[in-house]
Amino acid sequence: MKEYKAIEEVLSPSASHMVGDGFKVVNFSPGGESFGDRMSPFFLMDFNPEFNFTPTKEPRGVGVHPHRGFETVTVAYKGSVAHNDSTGNSGVINPGDVQWMTAASGILHKEYHEKEFAKKGGAFEMAQIWVNLPKKYKMSTPKYQAILNDQKGDYKIGNGNGNVLVIAGEYNGVKGPAKTFSPVEMYDIHLNENGEAEFNLPADFNTGLLVVEGEATINENTIAHAHQYVQFKNEEGAIKIKANKKSVFLLLSGEPINEPVAAYGPFVMNTVEEIQEAIDDFKGGKFGQLAN
Ligand code: MN
Repeated sequence: MKEYKAIEEVLSPSASHMVGDGFKVVNFSPGGESFGDRMSPFFLMDFNPEFNFTPTKEPRGVGVHPHRGFETVTVAYKGSVAHNDSTGNSGVINPGDVQWMTAASGILHKEYHEKEFAKKGGAFEMAQIWVNLPKKYKMSTPKYQAILNDQKGDYKIGNGNGNVLVIAGEYNGVKGPAKTFSPVEMYDIHLNENGEAEFNLPADFNTGLLVVEGEATINENTIAHAHQYVQFKNEEGAIKIKANKKSVFLLLSGEPINEPVAAYGPFVMNTVEEIQEAIDDFKGGKFGQLAN
């Protein structure tokens, strides 16, 4: 008999809300807690399930805003986002691409639908995950990792049943390109109908699975539908995903950072004093310059 990691909860998404005017996102609250309280080192997950944006002349999105103390990881499924930040980095995140931005000591950035996409409009689907940083790295130098779709680790499941694309960490010997500050596993999983994949993640890692598209049977006994999120218990055991139709999943698993958290808006620090300092530094222009 196969021993599986127990499912703690299958969560349906919250009502959606807009982030700026370009991201129509839902959230999940495992156990009624905030995502970050249950899923450290992951602090937040904004998921924009597929949504059709109408054409616009002025791209929709979020204007210049700061971040400090963590990383923002944007995973694009449909549509394109243009990004600019105060360190001079910029880029376009197209379907399949991932942007791993380490805000650390502080960054200003803006996130807009890419011009041509905005002009045409169409299907848009993305997830943004905030990955917290250990205290000793919170004030390190900001950086930016552009991970194009073909740069992800590509583990091919037998018989053409799909792929586990590794963004961070390692799956069956295939490594992901993202450099992380604490142990993080992040997989972009694509399964064809009846495709299966199994995962063995440490008991102490916090682990959850987002059904981006499709439907799955998890651990042979639990159905998870599109846009649901499966929270696993922290215990030994495998996770088995069987796609009941062609499906896409995002698997997050990481070693919890056992340090105090003080968070306010775009800042995630350890103490209230550090939050105040972040606000003062932002107001004082210490996050650099970026034109709107
Ligand atoms: Mn941001």
